[in-house]
Amino acid sequence: MSKVLVIGAGGVGSVAVHKMAMNADIFPDITLASRRKFKCDAIAESVKQRTGITIKTAEVDADHIDATAALIRQVGATHVVNLALPYQDLTIMEACLSTGAHYLDTANYEPRDEAKFEYHWQWAYQDRFKDAGLMALLGSGFDPGVTSVFTTWLRKHHFDRIDTLDILDCNGGDHGQHFATNFNPEINIREVTAVARHWENGDWVETPPMSVKQTFDFEAVGPKNMYLMYHEEIESLKTHLPEIRRIRFWMTFGDAYIQHLTVLQNVGMTRIDPVIYEGKEIIPLQFLKAVLPEPSSLGETTKGKTNIGVIATGLAKDGTEKTLYLYNICDHEDAYAETGNQAVSYTTGVPAMIGAAMMVTGTWSGQGVFNMEQMDPDPFMDMLNKHGLPWQVKELDGPLDF
Ligand code: NDP
Repeated sequence: MSKVLVIGAGGVGSVAVHKMAMNADIFPDITLASRRKFKCDAIAESVKQRTGITIKTAEVDADHIDATAALIRQVGATHVVNLALPYQDLTIMEACLSTGAHYLDTANYEPRDEAKFEYHWQWAYQDRFKDAGLMALLGSGFDPGVTSVFTTWLRKHHFDRIDTLDILDCNGGDHGQHFATNFNPEINIREVTAVARHWENGDWVETPPMSVKQTFDFEAVGPKNMYLMYHEEIESLKTHLPEIRRIRFWMTFGDAYIQHLTVLQNVGMTRIDPVIYEGKEIIPLQFLKAVLPEPSSLGETTKGKTNIGVIATGLAKDGTEKTLYLYNICDHEDAYAETGNQAVSYTTGVPAMIGAAMMVTGTWSGQGVFNMEQMDPDPFMDMLNKHGLPWQVKELDGPLDF
C-alpha cells in the first residue's frame, strides 16, 4: 500500500492534501509535515471537516537530510511530495535516496544566494535515482507542470512538429491588498526580477527584467498586460522537445504590482545577498516576505479567474500549418469554496496531487529523474478534467503577432 508524505504546509500543500483526501482510494495514507506543525494541524482540521478523512501531521526541518530521512522512515513513506520551497529540493531528494522513497516536486532547486531557476542540480541526480530503482518527477505544478503536459498532448494528438510555443500565465484575480504575491513571495519576486530569457533558434535570448510588455485578451478575464519572463519549463521543454524553434513565457501583472515592485527594487528590498542589520546578517527579500501577507491567507478575499495555457504553432497532422491554444480557466472563489485556498495555490496543488496519483498507481513509472513532458500526457489530462482543472483547446488564426 502506498504511503504519501507531503512536505510543506503552505497554500499549495494545503490544496494537495485536500485533493488527496478527496481521492482516498488512491491515497489511503497521507501525512503532512512542515517546519511548523501547527500549520499542518490547521490544514488537517480543514481536511477532516471537508472530507471526513484523517491525515497525520508532523514537524520537520527539510533543510536537514537526516531529519527528513528519519521522518520518511517513521512514516514508512513510499512517496514524498515536496511542496516546501525550492531550497529544500536537494535535501529531500537525498533523503528519498537514503530511504528508498519516490520523489515529486513543483519547482526546481534554487540556491538561497542565487536566482537561477535551472535544472542542472536536479538532473545531476539521474544516475543515482536510476541505480536506486526510484523515480523523481520534477515540476508537477501548473507552470511548470500542466503547461508541459499541454504541450506534449498537442504534440501527440495534433502536430507532427511544433515550431513555436508561447506559455501564457494570467492571474485576473483581485485580492484587495495593496501588494501581495499569490505564491511564496520570495520565490515570486526572485522570478519576476530575474533577467528575462527565452529560447530562439538554438540559443538563449536575454532582455532586461519586465522590459517586454504586450496586451492579450484572455477568455473569462479580459485584456491584460503580460510581460516576457524566464521560467524554468523553457529549459526542460527545449531539452526534451528540441524541434521547438522558439519558446517564450509570459505572465500578467497589474500596474499597481509593477509600481510597488519597482519601488521595492529601487530601495534594495528585493536583494538576496546578506546585509548587516543591528549586528546581524539578514536577507532583505526574506525580511520583506515576513511583512507581506501570506499567500495562503489571500483565499478569502480573492475574486476573479486565472487563465493559463499554451499557444503552439507548427505542422499539424493534416499537413497544414496550425496554431492551437490549450488553456484552463480557474475561478478563485470556487477554489476557495472547495479547499480554503485561492486559485494560484489550487492550480498548483491539484497537478501535484495528479502527478502523485500517476506515480502511486504506476500509471507513470520509470527509474531516474523525469520532467513532465517525458511522460504520456493522456492519463494526466483526463484527471485534470475530473479533478477541478478542465481544459479547452481552440484554433487561432496564427501565432502571436509579436
Ligand atoms: P508557501 O511559502 O505558502 O509554503 C511553503 C511551505 O513550506 C510553508 O509551510 C513553509 O513553512 C514550508 N517550509 C519552508 N521551509 C521549510 C523547511 N526547511 N522544512 C519544512 N518545511 C518548510 O509556498 P506555496 O505553498 O505558495 O508554494 C509551495 C511550492 O510550490 C514552492 O516551491 C513554489 O515555488 C511552488 N509553486 C509552484 C508553482 C507551479 O505552478 N509549478 C506555482 C506556485 C508555487 P512555514 O510556514 O513555517 O514558513
